Amino acid sequence: MESDALSARDRWDAIVVGAGPAGALAACLLAREGASVLLAEKARRGRPKVCGCCLGSGGAAVLDRANLGGVLRDAAPIRVLRLSTRGHTTTLPLDGMRAISREALDARLADAAENAGAVLAWNTTVAADAEGGVRITHAGETRTVRAGVVINAAGLLAHRVDGVPFRVRRTNRVGLGTTTAAPRNGIDPCGSDLRMIVGGDGYLGGVALPDGRTDWAAAVSPAWLRRHGSPAALLRAMAARAGLDPASVPTGPWRGTPTLTRSRPAQSGRVLSVGDAAGYVEPFTGEGMSWALLSAEAVVPHALACLEHDPAAAAWSREHRTLLGRAHRRCRRTALLVRRPALIGAGARLAAIRPAVARHLEGALSTHATSTARSSA
Ligand SMILES: Cc1cc2nc3c(=O)[nH]c(=O)nc-3n(C[C@H](O)[C@H](O)[C@H](O)COP(=O)(O)OP(=O)(O)OC[C@H]3O[C@@H](n4cnc5c(N)ncnc54)[C@H](O)[C@@H]3O)c2cc1C
Repeated sequence: MESDALSARDRWDAIVVGAGPAGALAACLLAREGASVLLAEKARRGRPKVCGCCLGSGGAAVLDRANLGGVLRDAAPIRVLRLSTRGHTTTLPLDGMRAISREALDARLADAAENAGAVLAWNTTVAADAEGGVRITHAGETRTVRAGVVINAAGLLAHRVDGVPFRVRRTNRVGLGTTTAAPRNGIDPCGSDLRMIVGGDGYLGGVALPDGRTDWAAAVSPAWLRRHGSPAALLRAMAARAGLDPASVPTGPWRGTPTLTRSRPAQSGRVLSVGDAAGYVEPFTGEGMSWALLSAEAVVPHALACLEHDPAAAAWSREHRTLLGRAHRRCRRTALLVRRPALIGAGARLAAIRPAVARHLEGALSTHATSTARSSA
């Protein structure tokens, strides 16, 4: 079925590479505009993904505007951040964040794209050039076709799609992720908690998913990972330094990501990049999926301009900088703060007695935090 649909055309209006939140939403919106759209994903349906699984209110608002709020039907509200560092745990209220597994979110968004008329092809790898020439590999066969516009939504591997390199930051971290079957004791988040442990070598977050599992995601220094020998050893050492029982950190298996903080131009000829493919900072503020959805929504007029005129009419790189440049810079500043847990620890202790400090700390730590804080030794 997929092979037939793939070979039915030699030319598509839009080929979208990658069925994460950015690619699936872009494919859905372009198909609704009447474009012929292929949404190609190299993984299988329902693939796991290293992600903290917390969607902020900005991302939910994009889904509402696209009449896709239903994909969050069982997403669990997260009301409290419990942050542990240097023997101290601080509790901050959160507003507007929801937990949902990436298996569920990504599959539902891909279904929405298909329902809007896009052809959806799993297990399909794509490479493209700036003129719209596209190589599609599926079930061991490679075909070359043309696209009026290519939406590169291939996440941190986007450079492999179009050959445009990322600028990668020297102080980079890598992502780690695992899920545990059911809530256990120890540091597990319960109910509507987001649990975070912060150390100089990285941070770990845990959240309860609506399907009963617990999602764990971390961003750590690659040098410290090498020094400790394994993700579990590093994260357990981090928990011990935060004053928590190291044995309560899950043993894994932990999946990894490439280095995280990276940027590149969002447009190269007929290839327009969205989501992580256009640049990513760090997961601490929990905004990556919202940025992905926002950029997918915003790219649509640029993709249509590519189809109707020549690609120079699109000006997507500039618009992408305007849309997300400030948010990326704010996230980068927060990421630098998080590299100094002594500062966070002192701030957290002060926040317990001075509400004004609490407000500043919350603003720095999370764009979703509201205005009071409690602290316990
Ligand atoms: C440790 C960690 C924790 C995080 N926690 C959060 C959080 O709590 N909240 C939040 O909002 N964000 C979080 N993020 C960020 C979030 O996961 C990303 O920003 C988000 O997934 C970006 O979506 P995307 O659609 O751009 O890319 P992705 O979700 O990465 O999707 C890209 C897709 O492209 C596919 N692909 C790649 N190459 C090809 C190819 N050549 N052909 C076809 N398909 C291809 C991949 O298989 C993948 O499915 C976290 C990230 C990390 C690393």
